[in-house]
Amino acid sequence: MAGSHLSVPGGPELTRHQIERATALRTDQDWLAKAWDDPATRVLVVEDGQVLARIGDGVAELIFVAPGQAPEGDSFLLGVDSSDVAYFGVGGPLGAAEGGTPSSGAGLQGEVAVRRAGLREAGTLLSDRDAGLLTHAVALANWHAVAGFCSRCGAPTRPEMAGHSRRCTSDGSEHFPRCDPAVIMLVTDPDDRCLLARNAQWPKGRVSVLAGFVEPGESAEQAVAREVREETGVIVSAVRYSASQPWPMPHSLMLGFRADAVTTQIDVDAEEIEEAGWYSRDDLRNALVEGDLLMPPSLSISRWLIETWYGAALPGPCRSAAGGVGRAG
Ligand SMILES: [Zn+2]
Repeated sequence: MAGSHLSVPGGPELTRHQIERATALRTDQDWLAKAWDDPATRVLVVEDGQVLARIGDGVAELIFVAPGQAPEGDSFLLGVDSSDVAYFGVGGPLGAAEGGTPSSGAGLQGEVAVRRAGLREAGTLLSDRDAGLLTHAVALANWHAVAGFCSRCGAPTRPEMAGHSRRCTSDGSEHFPRCDPAVIMLVTDPDDRCLLARNAQWPKGRVSVLAGFVEPGESAEQAVAREVREETGVIVSAVRYSASQPWPMPHSLMLGFRADAVTTQIDVDAEEIEEAGWYSRDDLRNALVEGDLLMPPSLSISRWLIETWYGAALPGPCRSAAGGVGRAG
């Protein structure tokens, strides 16, 4: 049913990337030292999940500094591009990035400003390369910010593996970046209607697919069935994986699924979910055109899941409210 001018995105937004992660170089101390001495090396400064970006009309690019301009802080290797330019991230004050250079300096039109931005604002505006670098850098910076002490004994930890792990200075235990798996699922009934729900914290009219965190000792498929039942009373079968998307806000990996409803009666939990309903494609299109419903922003995998079911890009604004799910959203 896709019109000729519409297309479903090829993949979730935050899975775009272009830089080789160069994992073998993370333990190559000579190479790392040389790269850090090279003024051509680009460093992305991250503070509280934000970076400096040059933002124009619907386009943005990251601001990088040379290693000599980077602030003191935990640095981490992000990768190497096809011209052998090395990219690092460092957690520190963004003031240090003022006077840095934009990634290309070209392609931005209209009013352009350099300002702080995070993934939610800049994620969809950046090039594939910059979007991948920002997602990787924010995820690692978020982890380093809370991983300074050993979770076993409380002693300080130090970065290793070019910032991709940390080791306790007392008991020698190794600690890796934390990533919480969350499931997000598009459920359809036998009439191919899709289940959409409104989180109790969202404004009226804002709906999305269901989501929640995977519990210890649980498979992702089990989490899908449990969350759908808990939140809406609907029982599902044929839970199948669609795609995933990093969601480092602060440290999740969103695992996208489809599932078939075995029962269709809705009984919302009234705590997390305020209301839920079945929508045909026509229902959804009409509600969006009338402005009665607000969809998740294009940054989130929820919108991608809905669009793969809908069969085209959704009508209406796509960069509306804040995206994704909250804790066990
Ligand atoms: Zn320890």
